[in-house]
Amino acid sequence: MAKPLSASKMVEILRAEGLTVHEVRSWRTHNRNSKGAWGPVNGVMIHHTVTKGTESSVSICYNGYSGLPGPLCHGVIDKKGEIHLVGNGRANHAGLGDSDVLRAVINESALPHDNEADTDGNARFYGFECINLGDGKDPWPEAQKEAIERVSAAICRHHGWSERSVIGHKEWQPGKTDPRGFTMDGMRKRIAQRLKGGGGGEPKPDPKPAPKPKLEPFPGGGFFHTGQKSPIITAMGRRLVAEGCGRYEEGPSPEWTEADRRSYAAWQQKLGFKGKDADGIPGKVSWDKLRVPGV
Ligand SMILES: [Zn+2]
Repeated sequence: MAKPLSASKMVEILRAEGLTVHEVRSWRTHNRNSKGAWGPVNGVMIHHTVTKGTESSVSICYNGYSGLPGPLCHGVIDKKGEIHLVGNGRANHAGLGDSDVLRAVINESALPHDNEADTDGNARFYGFECINLGDGKDPWPEAQKEAIERVSAAICRHHGWSERSVIGHKEWQPGKTDPRGFTMDGMRKRIAQRLKGGGGGEPKPDPKPAPKPKLEPFPGGGFFHTGQKSPIITAMGRRLVAEGCGRYEEGPSPEWTEADRRSYAAWQQKLGFKGKDADGIPGKVSWDKLRVPGV
């Protein structure tokens, strides 16, 4: 449940998601608010237009037709994956649908089969019409599917929703078949990936790979002697404990002690070293294998 996005915020979050956004005519004040409620909003609904051609499809979605005045959605997603915003507020896209489905969307739980038309969806859902004939043959270009993913993820992220807040018209209103040509479960998976930071299509503009943890280089065998104090020894001890080789009564601490030597010997034995090679004084091979984080 959320307060609907303002027009400016909608444009902002869609562009931030890497989308090309076209603002159509007076879309910012174009709505059906005089006919009923708009909000609180609970989800995003995906449709296909049963039309072809970007210009005429956008025009129909803006104007509507006799018997069903526009806007017929909030945005049209064309075959190139560009977004044409046609409405801001209540729009004639969802119609009456199933209150059990709405409850599932609100709870972000598994969707029940839609078998009732008892609830006004136009108040509750953002609607996106995707240009497609809906005949099962008209292809869905990857750019268009990626745009559906991006639009949905942008809105879900803004409202703090998961991918489960995105449904198809056919999952809402009995008798509807849209969208046809891909599965909503598959699309929700893509949206979930994107929300996690993945993105199903091409990488985001500035992927920042997580920095690799730096490891502490082997300080040399002579470093480890009674009286030596260093945070490296604490870091080493923590790794030994993590490897199940801790022989500490308390600690580990920065000061090299017999407990460190006995713990390190346990690590060497774990690696298969024997005799003098398992004397508890670190050597380069066992040190590198221990992967002590840099201090
Ligand atoms: Zn529809």
